[in-house]
Amino acid sequence: MEINDTVFAQLKEILNSGKEVLANEPLSKWTTWRVGGPAQYLVFPSSVEKVVGVIKIAKKNNVPVIVLGNGSNVLVKDSGIKGIVINTAKLERISVQGTIISAEAGNTMPQLAKYAMQNSLTGLEFSVGIPASFGGAILMNAGAWGKSLGDVIKEVKIVNMEGEVKVLSREQMNFNYRESSFKKGAQVIVGGNLKLAQGDAVKIKNLMTFHQQNRIEKQPLRLPNAGSVFKNPEGYAAGYLIESVGLKGFNMGGAKISDKHANFIVNTGSATAEDILNLMDKAVHCVENFYGIHLEPEISILG
Ligand SMILES: Cc1cc2nc3c(=O)[nH]c(=O)nc-3n(C[C@H](O)[C@H](O)[C@H](O)COP(=O)(O)OP(=O)(O)OC[C@H]3O[C@@H](n4cnc5c(N)ncnc54)[C@H](O)[C@@H]3O)c2cc1C
Repeated sequence: MEINDTVFAQLKEILNSGKEVLANEPLSKWTTWRVGGPAQYLVFPSSVEKVVGVIKIAKKNNVPVIVLGNGSNVLVKDSGIKGIVINTAKLERISVQGTIISAEAGNTMPQLAKYAMQNSLTGLEFSVGIPASFGGAILMNAGAWGKSLGDVIKEVKIVNMEGEVKVLSREQMNFNYRESSFKKGAQVIVGGNLKLAQGDAVKIKNLMTFHQQNRIEKQPLRLPNAGSVFKNPEGYAAGYLIESVGLKGFNMGGAKISDKHANFIVNTGSATAEDILNLMDKAVHCVENFYGIHLEPEISILG
């Protein structure tokens, strides 16, 4: 993609002399599916002030902005993303006061769950195996074992597309199954506070180990994937529906419906985003024809 020298120079100036900005960077390196074309500009701001600076540059130059957390629930198209992609990985601050953990968006959920355990705080055990950034997990209301992040969020800090910093309370986020009000808006989630409860570090650790072992048994973790591809329709498991129409193990190009869990699509080595999209279409059509149920993607398609 063509690089605008003015935009690139402005980004370099605020981003650690250019060390936190890349041009035409393949996003396959930054997503767990290991597919996706380049980002025109990929930036790694290490403070909220730098996020504000990036948004202001984007606004001034009329360049679109997309946020990427840990890339564990996105399908980036092969054509890539035009504009500025903000990766939150360097927003890493974390602290605890009593039962409240304050964390920036780039901490991962496994890191946060372990931090909570080290401080004898219970409430995040369910999230230890979710390979998400805190920001991405808030937006998706990530969850497992009947619990989700919305249960323990107290407040969230965002930067809006005007470059303003705002703090939102839990009530403003409309958490629902894999949904939050952030999905409909445009903002960078830069951090948040979690309200946990005092617990016993040994019991917390044991529960986390149990959750981890269960994932290893049931999920195809050896091949690149993006977790559950489709949301579970009311009263059904998407994996069961896909398996029962005979698609378990079915492949298109380098993308394959996992033999282990039919709601996972794995990259067997050479998958393109197009292979994955074609396979998703196939699953949607087969399930719709057989059951009359329309599967909705859980993943976000970017680009
Ligand atoms: C092996 C595996 C297991 C998984 N298990 C689970 C599970 O048990 N439960 C579950 O809920 N999910 C699971 N997932 C899916 C995924 O981890 C979650 O959906 C997670 O919330 C995505 O977070 P992320 O940081 O990777 O976001 P990304 O994939 O980077 O982004 C997802 C969406 O959020 C937006 N976004 C990300 N960060 C921000 C931010 N800071 N501000 C604004 N927008 C942002 C992106 O633009 C995109 O639209 C799994 C994935 C894998 C690969």
